Amino acid sequence: MKVLVAVKRVVDYNVKIRVKTDGTDVETSGVKMSMNPFDEIAVEEAVRLKEAGTATEIIAVSLGVPQAQETIRTALAMGADRGIHVQTDAVLEPLAVAKLLKAIVDKESPDLVVLGKQAIDDDSNQTGQMLAALMGWPQGTFASKLEIADGKANVTREVDGGLETVGLNIPCVVTTDLRLNEPRYASLPNIMKAKKKTIEKLTTDDLCVDVTPRLEVLGVEEPAKRQAGVIVADVAELIDKLKNEAKVI
Ligand code: AMP
Repeated sequence: MKVLVAVKRVVDYNVKIRVKTDGTDVETSGVKMSMNPFDEIAVEEAVRLKEAGTATEIIAVSLGVPQAQETIRTALAMGADRGIHVQTDAVLEPLAVAKLLKAIVDKESPDLVVLGKQAIDDDSNQTGQMLAALMGWPQGTFASKLEIADGKANVTREVDGGLETVGLNIPCVVTTDLRLNEPRYASLPNIMKAKKKTIEKLTTDDLCVDVTPRLEVLGVEEPAKRQAGVIVADVAELIDKLKNEAKVI
């Protein structure tokens, strides 16, 4: 079983996000970048499928600036077999990403495509769903458990009030939720081995995909600053403030 995993380079989740002074975007220059955390979970799941003898090959794909290759190297160090980098400086909206991934899926014919449920930079939560729609494949989103058996992928999802398990015919698209697994750290020997693994380089033209944005960003702002709190002397003062200032009781 061939597994394709989509890995995005995003601002590291520990970084405090700053907005560019011209209000057009989030500041990314001089900022630590890492693999999107949900994509680490996707790579981990693929590696576990390979360790269990279910997957035979794992391909890590990233689309974007040249440094996205570092993200692919991280996936290779975690256990992916080879990488594909579609290099572009263009801002890629989820539809463009889904179209590029479709072109790669058409070329590689994987049995399973695993993506993160969302990228923590744009929080779109759209790409996996769009890819499944473009392919006409079944999708299991927000997977908290994945089992492959009898030519099916059984995906358990956390829904309101409990768990839902859907059985998908393979080939299919799965997106990962936080509780699916705990991703491993790449060991030093595996980081060294990953340097020898191949990364195929492609362009958006090679894949004949028009990535022109369909949306216009009107502005990016920081959230309003929280006002400083006050310390009240006693319960009577607290009740008075809740009643007469906040007017919530
Ligand atoms: P989004 O729909 O933007 O929230 O992204 C959902 C998932 O799509 C991510 O977790 C990645 O697995 C994949 N993805 C989005 N953008 C890219 C990209 N530029 N390169 C590789 N994978 C991506």
